[in-house]
Amino acid sequence: MLKTLKILYHQGKQYIPDLTKAKVPGIFRGRPEISLEQVDVKALADICPTDAIMPDPVRIDLGRCTFCGECSRLYPGKIRFTTDYRLSTNDRKMLIISEGAVDPIRLNPDLIRKEIHKIFSGSLKLRQVSAAGDNSCELELNACGNVNFDMGRYGIEFVASPRHADGIVITGPISRNMSEPLQMTYDATPSPKIIILAGTDAISGGIFESSSAIDRRFIENNHIDLYVPGNPVHPLTFINGLLDLLGITR
Ligand code: SF4
Repeated sequence: MLKTLKILYHQGKQYIPDLTKAKVPGIFRGRPEISLEQVDVKALADICPTDAIMPDPVRIDLGRCTFCGECSRLYPGKIRFTTDYRLSTNDRKMLIISEGAVDPIRLNPDLIRKEIHKIFSGSLKLRQVSAAGDNSCELELNACGNVNFDMGRYGIEFVASPRHADGIVITGPISRNMSEPLQMTYDATPSPKIIILAGTDAISGGIFESSSAIDRRFIENNHIDLYVPGNPVHPLTFINGLLDLLGITR
């Protein structure tokens, strides 16, 4: 007993008490800020491996950005990545960051379906579908339930079967091979159900966007309730996005 108490005392608090105000290390790349500095915008846009940078005015689409950091490394006065991990939104347009913009990314309350607050704010079970993911976002989603992030404190958990789930979380660009299993998983989830896209690959296809091996008709044909940018997503980005979607006040 004494030994256990000593270990507990030595380790201190393992969980993050307030997930909305947690600090992340400075090396984390979160919401970018684009200054008004004059640069060769074409050269800047050409750097980007996923065409996430658009010129005139300069904008970055976080749904396409892999957060590689190359643009800020070569143009540090023009693009700076902050440590703001609150990147999730339900409005695809909000993921496009413009020159001079410093506003945080938030959800559009008008786009949140009414039943989401009413039915899921006390308990939300999710089925994760790795649709040709590379296991990076999947690992981070697993971390959401660990002792540090403890997403379960809000009643949010991943479950094994879509029949026990209230929605699906898609990772990966969705290969042709995974398009049917994805549709079957969605069909097996009882209504009303939500769809969350976690990570750059799921939101836009990422570096696989133009590949003939992917099939994104599922995304085009269904309403997306939450976009969670990141490559991979950070647990704080995912959890804070869900809290906002569910209207959970901390
Ligand atoms: S950090 Fe994003 S916007 Fe910048 S070059 Fe990499 S992918 Fe493109």
